[in-house]
Amino acid sequence: MKVKLALAPEMGRKLIVEEVELADPEPNEARIKVMTCSICHSDIHAMMGEHGEYEGASAVGHEISGIVDAVGKNVTYVKPGDRVLCSLMSQGCGVCDKCLEGRIMWFCRNIDRSAKPNQYTRLNGEPVKLPYGFAGFSTYTNVNERRIVKLDDDISFEVGSALACGFISGFAAVLNRCKIKPGESFAVTGCGGVGLSALMGARVSGAVPIIAIDTQQVKLDAAVKFGATHTVNPKAVDPVKAVLDITDGYGVDHSIVAVAGPGIKRSTFDLTAGDGQMVIVGHGHPNDEGMGEFNFMEFLRGKRITGSVLGAISLRRDVPKCMEMYRRGMVDIDALFTNRFKLDDIQAAIDDSERGALKNIVICNE
Ligand SMILES: [Zn+2]
Ligand SMILES: [Zn+2]
Repeated sequence: MKVKLALAPEMGRKLIVEEVELADPEPNEARIKVMTCSICHSDIHAMMGEHGEYEGASAVGHEISGIVDAVGKNVTYVKPGDRVLCSLMSQGCGVCDKCLEGRIMWFCRNIDRSAKPNQYTRLNGEPVKLPYGFAGFSTYTNVNERRIVKLDDDISFEVGSALACGFISGFAAVLNRCKIKPGESFAVTGCGGVGLSALMGARVSGAVPIIAIDTQQVKLDAAVKFGATHTVNPKAVDPVKAVLDITDGYGVDHSIVAVAGPGIKRSTFDLTAGDGQMVIVGHGHPNDEGMGEFNFMEFLRGKRITGSVLGAISLRRDVPKCMEMYRRGMVDIDALFTNRFKLDDIQAAIDDSERGALKNIVICNE
């Protein structure tokens, strides 16, 4: 069927919206009428070729909420009319030993890694590359059933979009990786949408103090609203010294890095306690984010570095919990949203995100 799709005609080029042909869903896919897709900085990195260079047209958008429009013959979890969100995280098979141990999707023994045929074709015959396997900046997209979670009737599509990636990347990283005990200390470096969501996770977990670190005052002001008890601006003070001062010289028990850049992981590690843990959730540039600056001696007292992608969630276990916490007012996901744009104005939405908007929403169907 003919649908509208935002695509970059070549790597690094601006997005254009055009009519394309969408293939029917595969047997294990559902066709989703996309209602909202929020913008994630990963979309911008992927379009620029930072997740792998490519030739020709490509399309992104992975924070999808919508309505199931049609299903392939093997789909059992959803039916047409269901409200859903679609995530890059996928549900494991649920029956292999790794799934039964409760491991997240990456470790499932039965992940379907077969390459799918191109689902979008431009009217000039060119197939459109999809780094994420689907494209949320479109009116319709086909999604593997395992990447779908049902959205409760009282949860808006916008909130569903945030739950697909941006919010869980910060919030669930704190729940699933930090596993804070009430009263333990916490710091996050980088207070964009992911960092602010991490602050909400620290607040729900009972962390104290909760320290927000960012070079932009506007983001530090937002951080206080999301639970920060202290703010540190590295442009004004040495962040390591400031955090050591706040924590009586110990450093924080838990830290999250939610921004990329030279020296940021090093300084966050240095403000983490000698037996604390630093969790990396932000995008990193492969060439300038090596481990060479760390010395093995620094780990002898039990200090740890680990990472998290998409909050290390188990999709259908964690998203319903997040919906319930949102419903009960424990997290304020709506406050993450900045501006709303129509699909035709997608490039303006991305430009606004690059200027620092927290989370912009693209409305793909009215
Ligand atoms: Zn994302
Ligand atoms: Zn499995």
